Amino acid sequence: MTRSIRPLVAGNWKMNGVRADLAIAAEVAAGYDLALKSAVDLALCPPATLLYMMSAALLGSRIATGGQDCGVAASGAFTGEVSAAMLADSGATFAIVGHSERRALHGETNAVVRAKAQAAQAALLVPIVCVGETQAEREAGKALAVVRKQLRGSVPEGSKAATLVVAYEPVWAIGTGLTPTPADVGQMHEAIRAELARILGKPAAAGVRLLYGGSVKPGNAAELMSVAHVDGALVGGASLKAQDFLAIARACA
Ligand code: PEP
Repeated sequence: MTRSIRPLVAGNWKMNGVRADLAIAAEVAAGYDLALKSAVDLALCPPATLLYMMSAALLGSRIATGGQDCGVAASGAFTGEVSAAMLADSGATFAIVGHSERRALHGETNAVVRAKAQAAQAALLVPIVCVGETQAEREAGKALAVVRKQLRGSVPEGSKAATLVVAYEPVWAIGTGLTPTPADVGQMHEAIRAELARILGKPAAAGVRLLYGGSVKPGNAAELMSVAHVDGALVGGASLKAQDFLAIARACA
């Protein structure tokens, strides 16, 4: 944790959830008590189909919502795409961009991720820019170099602390139950902060929230969240269980 930074725990529902699952969001809101509210920000990123309804349901709860991706263009002939302005119009505060599933399954390059992050910022959303190495890259000793390159290619220049969140998500830790050691997470987050300082300048970089993501669960959250420069979590599977998500939030608080 960075003492001066208010932590953020964001849930990525991925392609999960129908209207009945809004009950999960309601349960999270019910458990987001005063102690938690004073210590940690929460956000839920449901599929686009649920975004408007979830945002409406969470009004007054101080829990933000976000999209899981956004188009590069503001509008136009892009069948199937959802623009950042549409996410904002549906009540979103955040947009996840460059998740490893989109980089791998949709061939999103760093340049595309940066364009999406810029589109999000233009719509007054805060992009959560995801970076992270594959298992092969880590085993080859290239994890730091890979992530630094992703940051240089994906982070919009001119971002301020309040207009950017970065999530370090090692690809091999997502949905696998595996996590890096706290020492490896610490080394990576320190390197990310330093690289952001080169890209954005030290004052802006010092305030950017750096989330760790990849198999965060109630049982490992406290250890991961206690690492320096870890300012919260991006949570996949465990964000679909309200009590697990709240337990992770409590570990941040
Ligand atoms: C994710 O997909 O962003 C993620 C962190 O997933 P999980 O928590 O399930 O590993």
